[in-house]
Amino acid sequence: MSELPRGASMDFRQIEEKWQRRWAEARVFEPSPEPGRPKFFITAAYPYPNGAIHIGHGRTYLIADIMARYHRHKGYNVLYPMGFHYTGTPILTVAESIAAGDVHAMEDFKAIYDVPEEELRKMGDPLYLANYFRELSKQYMKKIGFSIDWTREFTTIDPEYQQFIRWQFKKLYDKGLLVKGRHPVGWCPKHQMPVGAHDTKDDKEPDIGEWALIYFEGEDGLIYPTATLRPETVLGVTNLWINPEGDYAVAEVDGRKMVLSLDAAFKLSFQRKVKTVERTKGSSFVGRRVRNPVTGELVPIYPAPFVDVKTGTGVVMSVPAHAPYDYAALRDLGEVKLIPLISVEGYGEYPAKEVVERMGIRDQRDARLEDATKEVYMAEFSRGYMRQDVADRVGLHLPEPARSLLRGFFAAFIAGRPVREARDRIKAWMEAAGIGGGMYEIMNKPVYCRCGTEIVVKVLEDQWFLNYGDPNWKRATKELLASMRIVPDEARPQFEATIDWLDKRACARTRGLGTPLPWDPTWIIESLSDSTIYMAYYTVIRRIRELGLKPEQLTEAFWDYVFLGRGDAAEVARAIGADEKALRAVREEFSYWYPLDLRNSGKDLIPNHLTFFLFNHAAIFPRELWPRGIVANGWVLVEGEKMSKSKRNVLALGKAVDQFGADPLRATLATSAEVDQDLDFRSSAARSVAKHLEDIYNLVISTAERAARDGEGLPEMWLRSEAASLMEKAARALDQVSVRQAAVYVLYDMRRALERYLEMVDVPSRAVLEVLKAWAVAMEPFVPHLAEELWERLGERPFAAKAPWPRLAADRRTLLAVRYADRLVEDIAGLRELRKDAKRAVIYVNNNFAWIKAAVKARDVRELISAGVPGEVAKRLFDVARQMDDDLKALIEEVEDFDEYSALAELKTFLSRELGMEVDIYRADDEKAPDLGGKRRAALPLRAGVYLE
Ligand SMILES: [Zn+2]
Repeated sequence: MSELPRGASMDFRQIEEKWQRRWAEARVFEPSPEPGRPKFFITAAYPYPNGAIHIGHGRTYLIADIMARYHRHKGYNVLYPMGFHYTGTPILTVAESIAAGDVHAMEDFKAIYDVPEEELRKMGDPLYLANYFRELSKQYMKKIGFSIDWTREFTTIDPEYQQFIRWQFKKLYDKGLLVKGRHPVGWCPKHQMPVGAHDTKDDKEPDIGEWALIYFEGEDGLIYPTATLRPETVLGVTNLWINPEGDYAVAEVDGRKMVLSLDAAFKLSFQRKVKTVERTKGSSFVGRRVRNPVTGELVPIYPAPFVDVKTGTGVVMSVPAHAPYDYAALRDLGEVKLIPLISVEGYGEYPAKEVVERMGIRDQRDARLEDATKEVYMAEFSRGYMRQDVADRVGLHLPEPARSLLRGFFAAFIAGRPVREARDRIKAWMEAAGIGGGMYEIMNKPVYCRCGTEIVVKVLEDQWFLNYGDPNWKRATKELLASMRIVPDEARPQFEATIDWLDKRACARTRGLGTPLPWDPTWIIESLSDSTIYMAYYTVIRRIRELGLKPEQLTEAFWDYVFLGRGDAAEVARAIGADEKALRAVREEFSYWYPLDLRNSGKDLIPNHLTFFLFNHAAIFPRELWPRGIVANGWVLVEGEKMSKSKRNVLALGKAVDQFGADPLRATLATSAEVDQDLDFRSSAARSVAKHLEDIYNLVISTAERAARDGEGLPEMWLRSEAASLMEKAARALDQVSVRQAAVYVLYDMRRALERYLEMVDVPSRAVLEVLKAWAVAMEPFVPHLAEELWERLGERPFAAKAPWPRLAADRRTLLAVRYADRLVEDIAGLRELRKDAKRAVIYVNNNFAWIKAAVKARDVRELISAGVPGEVAKRLFDVARQMDDDLKALIEEVEDFDEYSALAELKTFLSRELGMEVDIYRADDEKAPDLGGKRRAALPLRAGVYLE
């Protein structure tokens, strides 16, 4: 069925299928509660089956799998389940496009997942499509050897799950966290429904912002609403801009006749009552004059090709003293007039002019205007103050006493104030006075619905919202976050920021699969709202099925009892018509597994799913059941490129397994990048990893076969100690979820150690079998099939997956001896460059180990001397210690006493073989030894004197 990976002769797939079958038969990964035994409950975000899983999902699930397998070795009862997310538009949209005969969608499926033609035709049915890809994804997950408990699998449209979601929403409702009201949402004009991150192409969360509109009244009686993010600059307007080529409309907006771009009229129609009266080009308004509603000045409308009719209203204020674009455009027209209104330290009266001139900007098309704008905006916003004289310029058009009253207001509340304060005050005042308003817009536009329609902002009335803006809810969620482990910890501020900015979120849609809102069944709970606490559901669904509980028995009282321990078991059992013992068993299973220990997902889910997961746990569960950790991993690129359907480079997980083998693929994903980094998957790397694994396999088997003698000498002691130290380091790395680091210790450094050992001995000793078995266990989280095969070949039963994490006895002294011998060999090889004809190395050993121990600790030479080291060697010894790496220093600190002379004597054969020359070893304090070249007296502890001849 599968071809052998190129460059490898080993049939990985055959070994993999054998062990996958045996794991399934023995139900190795289907845990039940074992009271008294510690548990580890880990989950990864379930996929939408609107396609099968690819290598990006694969990476996340693999990290979870490695952590799951590692914790089994550490003695934990581990639960790692999986389900499938059928809810919402992601599946529906794909099915609809297939039903509509979208050739591209079908070609994608054929190319990426090899879906047969006759299956494709049935995929117009969303349920058929979801079931198909669910099965395929499941096959893939089995194929790569994830240790998933499939007995708890579910989909989000199972009737039991729907009962669970109803309960969750009832709880949120009871706590006042679900509110009905008026609120802006991202909206698909075609589907007539709210859209969030998972309803859009590329999963882009629509970022809703608000423009301030300022109503300039024309001499023609029309209102020209300018859109701005800097309403305070209305005090310095010299003209308006309109795009002469743009399509504009005269429209009635809430009863007032306004001039705005056609696009703006369309967008605004989702927020206000808009009726377009007339369509025309922007040029027809050029040259007219309008009155500044604050200052009362009459200003002209000028043409400006740079005005984007798709942004704001298409009508723009020109403030040349403080906006570089405006200054440059007016300079091009020869119409510069500057009205200063903000003073900023470090700038003169006209910051825009100053920056444009300093940067040498040529004209209004100069791309550097973008940077100039940013600079002025930031400087004025963060350090700017409104000038004292602005009050004198307002209300020119007003009769007394209105003019004096207005000037009084500006003198008291605007003049001399920081810009950020003045901005909010002016905006609020204009709205109250009816000369300004607001307009919502998608700030990160264009954002497209999955159907291809560009999203707008709609102000919804009477819609249900999850009120993530509730301050108490935010506070509890922050407490949860603070109590939790986040990997990498650098992601924590992103969670904090998301908790801060999240506000009301539309939680239901009019279409898609899912659970209807219990009290308003025309609305379907959307996919990012029904996926926040389902980890709890995994713990109980198997037992619910075993006990034969029907969906209708899973009432609010049932879940209250099971998840919150509320109510009396006997009473609840009676009320739902179930056995009391059965009910208690469900509760016990939940209590055993919860809380969740680790949640894994790609980092793209931090601003939505992962933060909602925190919010909902904080709202529904008591503190002791709050989740304990999150791992957010980086992206996966394929051959240096982002995966995308349009490039057809989406690498389906199962196809990658067929191509490279499961273990080579796992090892490649584990070692190509650390968890928090983005990973670039290269097939060349996967092929060389396959070769490396094959070498490991052959090395272990041949060593075991050749191990023909007994006894443990220094080489065996060293290998065992080295292995112990590597496995300890790997365990520490896995405790930190540093998967790559751990995999390197186990798959690369361990191999080097074994090869090194084989160089030290002629015939391997049977004593190393213990090390080989330990190695099989340590590599199991990464390459479980290979590990099982080795475990069996080494005579062990039943499963490496169930063996405890290796605890080999390490002899630090042996490690130190070999590390030191290695250094010595290096040093001598260096000397030999100068004496190529040397046949013999004479080594003088200074056996005062206590000195070097002191030198490693000492902060300066004085400290070393006061520790008893003779003054004449202290300086040199201090330098020797300073040049050592941390590993060696740690060994020196750990080893109590070290007889350097005996250690080297024991390694004499090894040294001589490594160097290819005769070796003699003397004690430096042996007065009878010859002092060749003065090297005897020069010897320091762990820095022997060496003479070559
Ligand atoms: Zn749509």
